[in-house]
This record gives sequence, C-alpha cells and structure tokens, in this order.
Amino acid sequence: MHPLTVSTAIASMKESATLAVSARAAALKAEGVDVIGLSVGEPDFDTPQRIKDAAIAALQQGMTKYAPTPGDAAARKAIASKLRSENKIPVEWNHVSITCGAKHAIFMALTCLIQPGRGDEFLLPTPAWVSYKPLIELAGARCVEIPGLIENGLCVTPEQVARAITPKTVGILLNSPSNPCGIAYRPDELRAIVDVISAHPRVAVLSDEIYEKLIYPEITPGLTHWSPGSDPRIADRTVTVNGMSKAYAMTGWRLGYVASPANGGAWMKELIKFQGQLTNNVTSFALPAIVEALTNCADDVERMRCEFAKRAAHVHRLLSKIPEFTTVAPNGAFYAFPDIRRCIGKITPRGTRLNSAHAFSQALLEEHAVAVVPGEDFGTCAQTHIRLSFACAPAQYEKGIERIANFVTSLSSASPESAAHEAGSSARERC
Ligand code: PMP
Ligand code: GLU
Repeated sequence: MHPLTVSTAIASMKESATLAVSARAAALKAEGVDVIGLSVGEPDFDTPQRIKDAAIAALQQGMTKYAPTPGDAAARKAIASKLRSENKIPVEWNHVSITCGAKHAIFMALTCLIQPGRGDEFLLPTPAWVSYKPLIELAGARCVEIPGLIENGLCVTPEQVARAITPKTVGILLNSPSNPCGIAYRPDELRAIVDVISAHPRVAVLSDEIYEKLIYPEITPGLTHWSPGSDPRIADRTVTVNGMSKAYAMTGWRLGYVASPANGGAWMKELIKFQGQLTNNVTSFALPAIVEALTNCADDVERMRCEFAKRAAHVHRLLSKIPEFTTVAPNGAFYAFPDIRRCIGKITPRGTRLNSAHAFSQALLEEHAVAVVPGEDFGTCAQTHIRLSFACAPAQYEKGIERIANFVTSLSSASPESAAHEAGSSARERC
C-alpha cells in the first residue's frame, strides 16, 4: 500500500516540548511513579465559580447553536472595552475576534502577516515559547532569533532589534511577560524597542500579552504592564493577542482573542474570513463566560496573582541555593528559567552523561521523578536552561526543587573535554 502523505511542513515540525514532557510525566504518574510535575504552564487554581455559572446559565438557556465567527457582539464589546480602558489600545468591537485559545489566534495572525515564498523574516526575541518558531515557519517565514542574554535579564536590547531588521523583515513577535523567561519588560524597555520598530513601517508587531495580569511589583517595585499597541506610532500595525487561559485559570476552555485596528478594521476582516474557513466560532455558551470574567472577576485575578507573586519569590530563594544554577528573579508569568550550564558534561550516579539540557531533564525525570522542560526548544540561546513552572502547590515545587538540588549534588565531573563545555560554549557563541 502506498503510504499516506505527510507534508514536509508538518513532518519537519517539532512536537511541542511543553506538552510532550507533561504527557511523559502524566504517563509515569499513571504507572504509579511519584512524579513531581513542574513542566506545564497551567494555573493550579480552578476557574472562578461565577465564570462557570455564566457558561452553565448560557448552556441551560439553549446557547448551543453556531455563533458569529468572531464571537457575539456582547463578548467582542467586553474585550474591546477592556483593551481600550486597560491597555489603551484603540480598537472597536469589530476589530476583535475570539479564538480557540491564544495559540489559534497566533497561528491565524502569522498566516495573515506572512507571505510564503517571498523570503519573509519574522523576528523572535528568545528565549521564547516553544510554539512561536514552528508557527512562524509554517506560515512561510524564516524565524530570526534575537537572543536575550542572561546578563541582560534575558531581555533583548533595542540595539539588537535594530541590527536584526533587514528589508525582508515583516514582523516581530513580542511576549511580555515572557514564557519561558518568567520576566516582564519594564514599559520604558519595551518603548525603546518600539522606538526602533517605529522607524520601519513594513514591520508589524505581534504582541502576545497572555500573561499581562501576572506581573509582580512585589519583586520589581513599580513594575506595570504596557501594551505596544497603545503607541500611536505603531498602533495601526500592531496585532494584540491575549486569552483567558492564564489570568482566569481557564486553560481547558480554549478561549483566546486577537485584536487590531490595522487598515481601519479591514485587516481583522481578512483574519475573520480565514477563521470562518478554519474553525468558525468558539463554543457558543462559553461567550458569556468571557464577559463575566472581563467585567466581574478582577478580585479573583488579584487573589491568584498575589499567590503567584509569593511563589515567584519563594522559588527564586530555593533555586538561588543551588550554586550550579544562575537564575534571573521571576517577576512575571509563572516560570523560573535557570541556566544550568555548570551541570552540563557531568555524570549521574547511574552513569548518564549530561550532554545537554535535554539530557539533564530526561535524567532528572527518569532518576528523580521531576518533570521540567529543557531549554533547547525555547531558542538557541536557551540551550543550557531548564524551565520550571510554579503554577502548582508550594509543597509540590518545594519537593521538586529539593529533588533537583539532590540530583545536582549527586553529579560527578567528567573529563575536561566533556560535551558540557562544548554545549555551553557553542550556545554562548551563537548568542
Ligand atoms: N502564548 C504563550 C506565551 C503561552 O505560554 C501560551 C500557553 N499555552 C499560549 C500563548 C497559548 O495559550 P492558550 O492557547 O491556552 O490560550
Ligand atoms: N503554554 C503552556 C506551556 O508553555 C501550556 C502548554 C503549551 O501550550 O505549550 O507550558
């Protein structure tokens, strides 16, 4: 029989590392292994009750039919009003579309922005979330990584952005607060990057602000969120993506949104046309839950944010006690992203040589039952990092970090020409 075709675009695409590690941890757990899962970026809180109630009421009232492709007017108006008042982004309700998670929004936005076969380049400050690069490439552009160095707090500088822009650059993907870095850019830092972009009218900005509510002035005093789409110089070429998953603990609901005033609303019309052919509307009876979340749940968000802020400080204290790790203090999202280069090249008690962050994470999972995400898929400059999520009970991450510390202590040195050295220095050279 002739084998079924898998297109090169899909065959060459990497599996999502975050989801793969989490699936492996879940499988080990199902086998009875006491796995500590620090891999998935998913709040451990339940969705606030009033959000659930809004969906239940809508379901009971028979909101079970197709809705307009971008969502109903009530939910789109709630989103536009939030974007105008909180983010100062000049959008009307018909500049908004509600999507099956932020991932779907990013996919559609990139597919609209990139012209395959033209040699388009899309800039990506790294370390960056695992799905951006595959989606940029699927849309037909070359992904140009801009490395955020640990000495710059994992942030990229305006000078780096300026150097990366070429006549082929069609866009830049910004994500503050950042997954996996667990850091938020200060508004002045982001504005300085926008200063550079504003001089290049062909460069679109795709701003993924899904962690905007999870920032910690408790760690960086005065820290606030700033939306690039609020800057009048680039507002009409900025596409803002956000969603319900993180701030409202709604990962399983699959609700995101995308908004842009570009081309007087004509750009969104094209994206909505695409969505109509792809998925149509999100689950109809979830739409009133969005309105409830955005209009009545600020206290719930703040309660969860405060808890994440405490955990961010706590996790940083615990990780700082591991001398082999270098960690930037997390001040946004719910991730710590230590540089583990001093462990690379070492050997575990079972004789496994840790040639990479991937090998480190695998041995940690198999030998000490802790699941973390290795850095490789977050970008070239992230190759000697691991990502830990603290979106879990403190008892869980405390136990997990204790096991990590024991694992690191148990490692023995390899010969000087170890792969450690190679992996560490080659990653540094590329940065
Ligand atoms: N952007 C970032 C930075 C993320 O971490 C995630 C995590 N899932 C997403 C987008 C997608 O979120 P969702 O599809 O659950 O809305
Ligand atoms: N964004 C989360 C993470 O990075 C959820 C998994 C995913 O979609 O990648 O872990």
